[in-house]
Amino acid sequence: MPGDGVGPEVTREALRVLAAAGERFGFALAHEEFPVGGSAIDALGAPLPESVKTACLASDAVLLGAVGGPAWDALQGDLRPEAGLLALRKALGAYANLRPVAVPDFLAGASPLRREVVAGTDMMIVRELTGGIYFSSPKGPVEGTGGKEARNTMRYSEAEIARIAQVAFTWARRRRGRVTSVDKANVLEVSQLWREVVTRVRETDYPDVELEHLYIDNAAMQIVRRPSDFDVVVTANLFGDILSDLAATLPGSLGLLPSASVGGATGLFEPVHGSAPDIAGQGKANPSAAILSAAMMLEQWGEADAARAIRRAVNETLAEGARTADMREPGCRVVSTGEMGARVASRVRQETGREQPVEAAA
Ligand code: NAD
Repeated sequence: MPGDGVGPEVTREALRVLAAAGERFGFALAHEEFPVGGSAIDALGAPLPESVKTACLASDAVLLGAVGGPAWDALQGDLRPEAGLLALRKALGAYANLRPVAVPDFLAGASPLRREVVAGTDMMIVRELTGGIYFSSPKGPVEGTGGKEARNTMRYSEAEIARIAQVAFTWARRRRGRVTSVDKANVLEVSQLWREVVTRVRETDYPDVELEHLYIDNAAMQIVRRPSDFDVVVTANLFGDILSDLAATLPGSLGLLPSASVGGATGLFEPVHGSAPDIAGQGKANPSAAILSAAMMLEQWGEADAARAIRRAVNETLAEGARTADMREPGCRVVSTGEMGARVASRVRQETGREQPVEAAA
């Protein structure tokens, strides 16, 4: 689903790289294209038409660009492009939002943090997406004895905590084998249950994975002080909303950040950035986030070698100095969206499939 603005430009490059990975690693992907957001409003009168939702639910995965833009800004409520995206996430039953944040050494200079603090950062934030304080009852305004009151409820069941913990531990096994669970168990009973269940899931099913617990206030501080120490961070909806945006500032460009929303039968893979109307149609968008989202899709399907090869190809392309304008640095050559995608695809075709340090190719 290319979507709006730069969405079609970046998803085109993700498909190009997926095709290259299929050639190199021996699989074929069939794909169909559907409008979503503003483009669906223009073509079919709704941001997520029923026919499009049905097609998504019948797919193995949805790869999405971005939605929204000034052309649709005057629309209200369910007619807005963003409403299509929220409806899609809900329809897919995606309860786990995954956001990897990596800062390879050669990009550390672009971070708002000091190079030596941020270099080598490679963490994955696993945020519970369909429960917690954003969705639990009772909620809303009530008349209190002292006038108007408003309330929200943070509620989690053992089953909800266990399933998000399983996602985190599973990804930790594919990565460096360490999970940090973030809560506020010194104050909140719901966090005490969270901590108890996460600990039990590890003891029962993932004894090989290391687990530490941090309070949310301390976690926010530690992610800024020593980001490279974290591997997988798992947390509740509200805490994850805040921590994932905090961590997103580390690499210094939105154009690098992929995401996945999984848990239902069909996963949703999309860049973290929006439709960037200010640069749409100019070949300036960085396709890396969309390409890395496609790599997460392959990883989810067990194509770990192909996913690793794509990640390495993106890193090597950036390390050799080919950059879209958002990542311009002295000594680098500014390339278009299409050239960046073509370079990554060409590297993927040459991949050996074995782990090798990026520096070797830089
Ligand atoms: P944005 O992420 O689109 O853009 C923020 C800034 O980052 C802009 O300067 C843009 O040029 C730059 N940028 C974003 N992606 C880039 C890329 N791939 N390469 C280079 N530069 C990039 O956020 P915004 O401007 O707040 O929102 C624009 C529209 O996108 C709005 O309609 C908003 O509602 C929508 N939006 C959609 C999503 C989504 O589809 N998931 C997410 C956020 C915003």
